[in-house]
Amino acid sequence: MARIVIDAGHGGRDYGAVYEGRREKDDNLRLAMLVGDILKQNGVDVVYTRTSDVYNTPLEKARMGNEAGADYFVSIHRNAFPTPNTVSGVETLVYNDSGVKAEMARNINSNLEQLGFVNLGVKERPDLAVLRRTQIPALLVEAGFIDSNIDNELLDRNYEAVARAIADGILETIQPEVPYYKVQVGLFRNENNANRLLEQLVSEGFPAYINYADGYYKVLVGAFQDLAQARDQEQRLRDYGYETVVVR
Ligand SMILES: [Zn+2]
Repeated sequence: MARIVIDAGHGGRDYGAVYEGRREKDDNLRLAMLVGDILKQNGVDVVYTRTSDVYNTPLEKARMGNEAGADYFVSIHRNAFPTPNTVSGVETLVYNDSGVKAEMARNINSNLEQLGFVNLGVKERPDLAVLRRTQIPALLVEAGFIDSNIDNELLDRNYEAVARAIADGILETIQPEVPYYKVQVGLFRNENNANRLLEQLVSEGFPAYINYADGYYKVLVGAFQDLAQARDQEQRLRDYGYETVVVR
């Protein structure tokens, strides 16, 4: 199971950006808790740096991330521009634009873009403590500008959807490993041979398909989350005279 640290940016005496009485630290916390809920529902072990309005320095937050034994660190913020209502959109910050964190950043951005936010892309920010001092892949999501009426409207209209876009971006990247069992009925170099077996299996009512990898066409039946179910299917296939092997 993946473990992810969710950090609601700022907190306590550190309000973050403020616009017309709206405080970044509050938006961050609300979003972070929702993102964490969705991740938990999807089998992720979530560790929060804060679940209430308390202050910790960015360095302390990075340390919490390191001590959590987690796989990823995701910090949730809202952006601000010196002149309100000039810039709008989402961006995700990383220490450097490479590896899985950059991939996750892009997945999050594009999901948010689908909700109507302008996608300002992935930016390198090696100066930020939560990105520099974390020893695990870390990213900082700027979920729109707090001083942009356009972005606030998008967020306020549907907090859940924004949280889901962020959570889905994370989940799409880490693909929590579910052990699926498949029954392999054939392994071919030749695609036509694989197709012939596939057609035969399908005509006999088996949920068969082909998976191509490393120069081989695998003809598979499944997948099953339960090994016993895979074994049952394997027995049926053997009754039909196929040679089989259960694979993960
Ligand atoms: Zn912030």
